[in-house]
Amino acid sequence: MTAPTPSPTRVLVLNSGSSSVKYQLLDMADGSRLAVGLVERIGEEGSRLVHTPLRGGEKRVRSGTVADHAAALKAVAEELAADGLGLDSPELAAIGHRVVHGGLRFTAPTVIDEEVLAEIERLVPVAPLHNPANIVGIRTAMTLRPDLPQVAVFDTAFHTTMPEAAARYAIDVDTADAYRIRRYGFHGTSHAYVSRETARLLGKAPEEVNVIVLHLGNGASASAVAGGRCVDTSMGLTPLEGLVMGTRSGDVDPAVTFHLMRVAGMTADEIDTLLNKRSGLVGLCGDNDMREIRRRIDEGDQRAALAFDVYVHRLKKYIGAYYAVLGRVDAVAFTAGVGENAAPVREAAIAGLEELGLAVDADLNAVRSDEARIISPEYARVAVAVVPTDEELEIARQTFALVHDPAQEK
Ligand code: ADP
Repeated sequence: MTAPTPSPTRVLVLNSGSSSVKYQLLDMADGSRLAVGLVERIGEEGSRLVHTPLRGGEKRVRSGTVADHAAALKAVAEELAADGLGLDSPELAAIGHRVVHGGLRFTAPTVIDEEVLAEIERLVPVAPLHNPANIVGIRTAMTLRPDLPQVAVFDTAFHTTMPEAAARYAIDVDTADAYRIRRYGFHGTSHAYVSRETARLLGKAPEEVNVIVLHLGNGASASAVAGGRCVDTSMGLTPLEGLVMGTRSGDVDPAVTFHLMRVAGMTADEIDTLLNKRSGLVGLCGDNDMREIRRRIDEGDQRAALAFDVYVHRLKKYIGAYYAVLGRVDAVAFTAGVGENAAPVREAAIAGLEELGLAVDADLNAVRSDEARIISPEYARVAVAVVPTDEELEIARQTFALVHDPAQEK
């Protein structure tokens, strides 16, 4: 008798952007990483692949033009194979793809077939920058391993529980429905992971706690999570709405758009670029890195100080708004590049909210750590926490759970 083959436990997570592919190979037996890497500037001069094996071996860098996503994924497959982790390995259980827009149809991770791909394609008009790259990544991976389950994990899925009152824009219903205009929200994988980890940090089940999650990276979004379900989030039809971001404006009066068309003679594309690429912190002060902005403030730079103040003011407004939406808040969790690292942002966003039971302890806030931690003083009614996000682990977990226990698929 031969011993039964152990069931495969590895998941390759692929995050395909317009000119990059980020990847991580995880072993879901223990959640550890086997390799991580990135292919950047795909289709441009100076493409680069950076591959880091995490169980022995040195980081490797490959330079030279990578023509397209197919070539990028082939190069990734070769690097993994060189470490004995090739895509043909029987230990690989599935490939998990980050897909930015899942519309209303995809409320959970989904095994990809042609019909699912067609639906992701149908959503391209509402995610023109992201979904096409995701589709190319999926198609290429399917060609490399046609027999392997490929799972889509959607950035929007966590937000599909939002009630209509939060998801609807107050515009003509027929027009909105005809063009699928509503608030979808993004960064859902991160909001799901961080809200759950925050509950764990408090020693409670997710169903027992209400959390405001502040995902502050280059893109930034807030969400109100009641008992594990998202009830509101700050990004909308696209990832432009809401908080002030690195290069995006967040909320503006929509009349800014037609004002610029009529008065400045700008085209829709020019205004799109203005609001998405030349606004936010960059638009206000020329820098989008919070470290640089803080350095400039320390030197007395007025524009950097203005950018910081506008950023924090918006953040504080959303904390207040989501406090009201939730009614009772157990924790406010800061995450992503700025949220995890920028103590002055956390301090300023929570300052003055003592009446809401919110406070930050200066010493705890100053601690630098990769661990989830509470930074509010013991007496505070509401916990303020720093909870590092891990979108790849979350995608791998959801992918593995689905292929391991398909009953999970809704
Ligand atoms: P992305 O949205 O690209 O995933 P990240 O979550 O990695 O972004 O966040 C990137 C941002 O985090 C940087 O632009 C910078 O503003 C901020 N950041 C990173 N490290 C620090 C730090 N040590 N102090 C302050 N801000 C930081």
